[in-house]
Amino acid sequence: MIFRLFLGSLRSKEGQSQPMHLLLQPSLAPAQFERVLGEVRALSLTWGGEVVGTPDYRNRSMQLSFRKGVMREDLRQGLLSIEGVEAFQATKEPLFHVGDPCRGALTVQVEDAIFGGGFASAIAGPCSVEDHETLLTLAKGLKQAGATALRGGAFKPRTSPYAFQGLGRPGLEILSDVARQTGLAVVTEALDPKDLDAVGEHAHILQIGSRNMMNYALLKEVGQMQRPVLLKRGMSATLSEFLNAAEYLADAGSEQILLCERGLRHFDPAVRNLLDLSAIPLLKARTHLPVLVDPSHGTGVASVVPAMMHAAAAAGADGFLVEVHLHPEQSISDAGQALSLDTFAQTLPTTALVLEACGRRLSRSNVSSSSNLSIL
Ligand code: PEP
Ligand code: MN
Repeated sequence: MIFRLFLGSLRSKEGQSQPMHLLLQPSLAPAQFERVLGEVRALSLTWGGEVVGTPDYRNRSMQLSFRKGVMREDLRQGLLSIEGVEAFQATKEPLFHVGDPCRGALTVQVEDAIFGGGFASAIAGPCSVEDHETLLTLAKGLKQAGATALRGGAFKPRTSPYAFQGLGRPGLEILSDVARQTGLAVVTEALDPKDLDAVGEHAHILQIGSRNMMNYALLKEVGQMQRPVLLKRGMSATLSEFLNAAEYLADAGSEQILLCERGLRHFDPAVRNLLDLSAIPLLKARTHLPVLVDPSHGTGVASVVPAMMHAAAAAGADGFLVEVHLHPEQSISDAGQALSLDTFAQTLPTTALVLEACGRRLSRSNVSSSSNLSIL
């Protein structure tokens, strides 16, 4: 309640105030933190600003607010010259829930899938749920290969209204039955608010697709469900728009949000989308949320997906969303970008090596027991 009031008061100042996040040295002891706080308060006051909210000792950070236009170079230098202050970030727009990387990276764990906190996990499966038998065979192979979650669309956002639109609710049932049999978590897209109850009943993680990243009504409804959400970046959305979409979810109630870079519209038909790997470190500098990469939609070309998985792992991805099909060429949708099971099974161990070289790990479920977690 108090928090809400605090946000309300900050919001009422929107347009006039300039929020700023100050990062202190992580090694500061409590007494040093108090000293820095005192000095920051005093300096802010002389510039007509203030320290807002509760300074966060755990993450050695504090939020300041100044009148718009006050953020001058001599103020910035003054703050940076205080012993114990490390850096600051001025935010263009207020992101009260997701704009705080120094809150400590969020780790989202769903069943055996871990995203963030030094772990990355693979969500794999077909573009669309097609039938029970092939999905079960595929899912067993995916689990064996090291995936922790099963993806597959039951509601498909297709460019043509005449293209396969997904199996709908029966598809959700197939997906959740297969996931239960294999011990994989379910990730599937919610397209329409009217289907949210059904999607929520079957999915561990609700996916919001690229086309719906700016569907604010849907974001608000999904946020209220307070379930883990995988939010895909709009195909022509800026990072700021992407973070604001996450902010909609968080403001409505979501805490466990996974951001997913999935490639941007561009001019060269060589690939379907241009995968923006720079988004990973840039997002991590602006939010505490895990950042995943979808190299399948991100390129649309199966042959380059393994290389993009390696590159995403090196760039800091906390997870991968990959399209895999038992018979890629027969996939009803997105056949050109689906990996075969063999290619996926070969790519995941090498991706794990890249992660390890970068000081992180691939989380995978123990094949012999779906409830035991083991780390590759
Ligand atoms: C998908 O992942 O099934 C999908 C439709 O992707 P996007 O929303 O990124 O196009
Ligand atoms: Mn697809």
